[in-house]
Amino acid sequence: MPDPIVVIVVLVAIALLGAIIFGFIASTRNRSTGVDLEPPPRPRAERAGAATTTPTLERERPDLVTPEVPDVEPDVLPEPEPAPKPTLRDRIARARGTVSGYLGSVLSRSGIDAATWDDLEEALIRADVGATRTADILDGLRGRVKAESITEPAVLLEALQTDLIERLDVEDRSLHRAEGTTSVWLFVGVNGVGKTTTVGKLGAHEQAEGRSVVMVAGDTFRAAAAEQLQTWAERADAHFVRGAEGADPSSVIFDGIEAGVARGADVVMADTAGRLHNKSNLMDELRKVRRVADKAPGEVTEVLLVIDATTGQNGLEQARVFTEAVEVTGVVLTKLDGSAKGGIVLAIQGELGIPVKLVGLGESADDLVVFHPEEFVRALLATD
Ligand code: GDP
Repeated sequence: MPDPIVVIVVLVAIALLGAIIFGFIASTRNRSTGVDLEPPPRPRAERAGAATTTPTLERERPDLVTPEVPDVEPDVLPEPEPAPKPTLRDRIARARGTVSGYLGSVLSRSGIDAATWDDLEEALIRADVGATRTADILDGLRGRVKAESITEPAVLLEALQTDLIERLDVEDRSLHRAEGTTSVWLFVGVNGVGKTTTVGKLGAHEQAEGRSVVMVAGDTFRAAAAEQLQTWAERADAHFVRGAEGADPSSVIFDGIEAGVARGADVVMADTAGRLHNKSNLMDELRKVRRVADKAPGEVTEVLLVIDATTGQNGLEQARVFTEAVEVTGVVLTKLDGSAKGGIVLAIQGELGIPVKLVGLGESADDLVVFHPEEFVRALLATD
């Protein structure tokens, strides 16, 4: 006979083992069927229509109704503040970017050494100041460093800025106006530099200031130029004159000036053609435009040469050719926003003695601003 105690122990062991096996089977079954506990995802169409279909619960229980949402006006959000106008500094970020690394490296040294001068030279050359002018500027600066015992890089950069501002300083940068008659402003320059756009922007500005403007499409070789100018004139509420396509630009400009004077306009702004494929023809044509405009009533008080800043030293060459042909009274430097070559301003004023009067910083009407040397130099050479 087996010992009853042994029998009890064996039975308890069997019972325990059975419980363990049962528990294990139950838990694996739960796990394998766990996904079925989640409701299946609703088809896409049902999800999309969820907001418009009646919920199932409501269909089955008509006594349950969705409470009416009161028809209230959504809160009216305040008008957003107009974004602040980008500054000259923002607009010439690209030009500044080409020099700021060199200027930063100047500032990173504890004193002024040969590498400092190399950095300054590189910065000015990259800004398209031109090799001769750069050498001239640095010679002057070396003299100043000696005379004023400058030893700190930050003071040296301040002296450079002061020097450039002085170089750009001219007595009169204003747009000249005739007294007692209509002023005539001619816009010259090669194709694509931004003449038509400049006439449009400046015309819009003059109109906004309360002066009456006549815009004349003197670029009769490019139908698109006339259409472009007409759009500007319409937007600015200015009077617009154009000739037949291919007409003599001088006669169109003459007619435009006559019309302006007859209307008692304050300013007649004449766009001109800028084809460059035959330079001597273009220059002859411009001389003729000038002669004819002088014969017309009114008074030519500005001949503005429009130069594209992105063309760099090439723009300087254009300026030389134009100033030989017509008496240029001022420069409009366009596309300074897209240029890495802001230093061209120094080259133009320094070499030709013609003041840069306006700069173009973009394509819209507000993007033509009066040129301020100090603001420009500080924006170009900013290191912060
Ligand atoms: P035109 O042939 O000299 O009359 O040149 P347009 O006035 O037709 O201008 C040529 C292009 O330059 C156009 O796409 C203008 O919108 C653009 N443009 C003119 N001025 C500026 C400027 O200051 N900044 C930029 N970014 N584009 C300009």
